[in-house]
Amino acid sequence: MSRKRLPQSIKKLKASAEELYGVRGKQLKRFSEKNMAFKKVSEDLGRPWFEVWSQKMLGQYKKGQIGDKVHVASVKEARSHVALWVGASTWNRLTMPYGEGHENEGFLSWKPINVPPPFQGNPESDPDPGDLTKKVKQIARFLGANRVGIAKLNRKWVYAETCRNIYSPDTPLTKKIVFKDVKEPDETENELIIPDRVRFAVVTIMDLNHILASIGSSSVDTSVATNIGYSRMGLTDVALAEAIRTMGYTAIPCKNSTGLSIPMAIDAGLGQLGRNGLLITPEFGACVRIGKVLTDMPLIPDRPIDFGVTEFCENCMRCAKTCEVGAISFDKRSTEPPVETGNPGALKWYVNGKACLNYWIDSGASCTACQAVCPFTQSHYEVLDPSVVWEMEVAPFGIENR
Ligand code: SF4
Ligand code: SF4
Repeated sequence: MSRKRLPQSIKKLKASAEELYGVRGKQLKRFSEKNMAFKKVSEDLGRPWFEVWSQKMLGQYKKGQIGDKVHVASVKEARSHVALWVGASTWNRLTMPYGEGHENEGFLSWKPINVPPPFQGNPESDPDPGDLTKKVKQIARFLGANRVGIAKLNRKWVYAETCRNIYSPDTPLTKKIVFKDVKEPDETENELIIPDRVRFAVVTIMDLNHILASIGSSSVDTSVATNIGYSRMGLTDVALAEAIRTMGYTAIPCKNSTGLSIPMAIDAGLGQLGRNGLLITPEFGACVRIGKVLTDMPLIPDRPIDFGVTEFCENCMRCAKTCEVGAISFDKRSTEPPVETGNPGALKWYVNGKACLNYWIDSGASCTACQAVCPFTQSHYEVLDPSVVWEMEVAPFGIENR
């Protein structure tokens, strides 16, 4: 698909994500993490989904495969791909895997970790929001983000509750996420408390390696692409939070925890929602992961953008045709999700999260086909031979790596 056939101009909108989703003034229930696909599929299986997924992946490796349909030359060769995957997952694991269910845990602490005490809770007087916005964006870029935007925090996008046992089939262990007039973020036996004055999200974009994301359609290598994204996200979110705290402000690093990343990224002017249920960015298409740090730092929010994604998706259907399990809708946008892993009431293309995750389990990998195939991604989707991994020009962390 030629870039010329894609919409070319980017407009800044007055409408917020709340208006784009058609939920302004309506009672949209805040989403609960207990309805995430990871939890619901684990409940269906009666076992942690990740355990079943890992067993499948290891079983395939012993047959010289790195995916349900992806063969390599030998078991030895398959092991090298698995080694890359374990390496790629490492910083993701250390910074609390993926984030969901880990609010205020480990490196996702809501309190300073290594900030010198004189700087904590002690901002300079007479702050200049324009200057702080410029500085915080530049810091995020240096720390690993490909793109950064500022969203005015809409509490509709903050989860109603965390789910502490999100990969377990057991009864959900939930804890409410509430806003209160308190000085610092806090956690009690029943609540995670965000200070009322936390009014912004610094949203970060991590570009995924487009070639890795194309090997499969679902393979250990596509999981590598995803995990490098989460590793970079963890390093960036945690370090950015520490930098914001050193400026004297509150910072809540999230990864996938605490709230919905896509609407926050839309509010931050970083992209639009696609038929594949993912953020489509002008620079990297759908091949991204989204981090976020919530803060009370006085900042200047960005505006949502429109570069023609909705109209293009209405006719394109490429992701829906590519998805092997029919998880992506061919229909018009709707306010009703097909399964309980979606939050009803927002006008959008809902994805069947359970069908998608079950495909990941069946393929022993994390599928990225609907990201790689999207014309906005401009990927090398045709590249299917896993040996390309060992010949690839490798870009350092934080640099565009197509
Ligand atoms: S990730 Fe794969 S299975 Fe899931 S919706 Fe996209 S194409 Fe379908
Ligand atoms: S593949 Fe086509 S329909 Fe799907 S998200 Fe991309 S542009 Fe939209």
